[in-house]
Amino acid sequence: SEGCECHSCYAGPDCSVFLADSCFAEADGGDPLFLEPFWRKHSASSAVLVSGWHRMGYSYSDQTTISKVLEERIRELHSVIGNAVTDGKFILFGVGSTQLIAAAVNSIFAPNSSAPAKVVASIPYYTLYRLQTQLFDSRDCDFKGDTAAWNGNYSGSTDQFIEFVTAPNNPDGQMNKAVLRGPNVRTIHDRAYYWPHFTAISSPDNEDLTIFTISKLTGHAGSRFGWALIKDEDVYERMKLYIQYNTLGVSKDTQLRALKLLEVVLRDGGRSIFEDGHRTMSKRWERLRDAMSVSDRFSLQKIPPERCLYFNETRDPTPAYAWVKCEWDEGQSCYEVLKSGKILGRMGSLFEAEDRYVRLSLIRSDDDFETLVTHLRKLAAAAEDGP
Ligand code: PMP
Repeated sequence: SEGCECHSCYAGPDCSVFLADSCFAEADGGDPLFLEPFWRKHSASSAVLVSGWHRMGYSYSDQTTISKVLEERIRELHSVIGNAVTDGKFILFGVGSTQLIAAAVNSIFAPNSSAPAKVVASIPYYTLYRLQTQLFDSRDCDFKGDTAAWNGNYSGSTDQFIEFVTAPNNPDGQMNKAVLRGPNVRTIHDRAYYWPHFTAISSPDNEDLTIFTISKLTGHAGSRFGWALIKDEDVYERMKLYIQYNTLGVSKDTQLRALKLLEVVLRDGGRSIFEDGHRTMSKRWERLRDAMSVSDRFSLQKIPPERCLYFNETRDPTPAYAWVKCEWDEGQSCYEVLKSGKILGRMGSLFEAEDRYVRLSLIRSDDDFETLVTHLRKLAAAAEDGP
């Protein structure tokens, strides 16, 4: 309508003309705009107004009222959703889960003078774990690649291990479990996607150190707010100090925004946001499968259904990303195959996987998803007509 800008793939007075020839489907980044329609419906009740004189002091995160109320809301949220036990746990805020990941890697072991801890994750894994560990280049930890390479090779060794366990996993949505065990192993559980939009909530997380974020819960990735649930007080204190030295805590404006959003989410025990979010995700999965079903050239990940304690029914997973495998194109990059059909995904090698895989984001805007399905349908149909 007048005054609105069209998505770059659409034109015309009401943005209904699809520019198929010039337009690429953006399915790379994980911007969670699939929840924008929900927040548009709750535009007034979710709005935050902050006067210029308000909350000007530093945010020493656990000393302000707002932090205390926000922490209470987070505990209430986990108890209502049933995705994590918070009793007996410390809660630490971070600038997105990204900052908490750094804090955790650098604080999970007490400082010692022995060899650096080996940081590992199961392939395919979220690259930030490697990139961040390498960037910070601490003398206390080294990124050492795939967990599987160390399984069976670590018991009896005095080396310390830090294993990332991501469930649901980015990129493939699998419910990964810890692989390494023993007195010298610590695990960091990344639960960014453990919300009913994406997966059945099969049991509450009750690990020593688990990280959550609003980015994929409410979709406000730009607000940069995450939290960690931590059992051990010493680990909590070390992580808190890390965040203190790093950013002097989390912006109070961000905390206020997160609080407002969680209050809207909690008004009906999360029913409306999770029903909306899940409906959108399951419709998208249905359409994606339908678009790809005309050809066996591409395949999608398979994840078994599970009983969801929150919705009280058995549900198929509806992950944030499709993990596409190019079945025919041996030796050819699946990313390039999709790009030739005007689809921009994220190549498998960016998750240390083979290039026969590509990750497609399904949590972007409606327009991005429509463009993706249109191009996929064409590509799958062309594959069937084949050379
Ligand atoms: N962990 C995983 C598995 C993710 O996919 C992401 C975001 N893509 C993050 C952490 C970082 O999220 P945040 O916005 O909270 O920093």
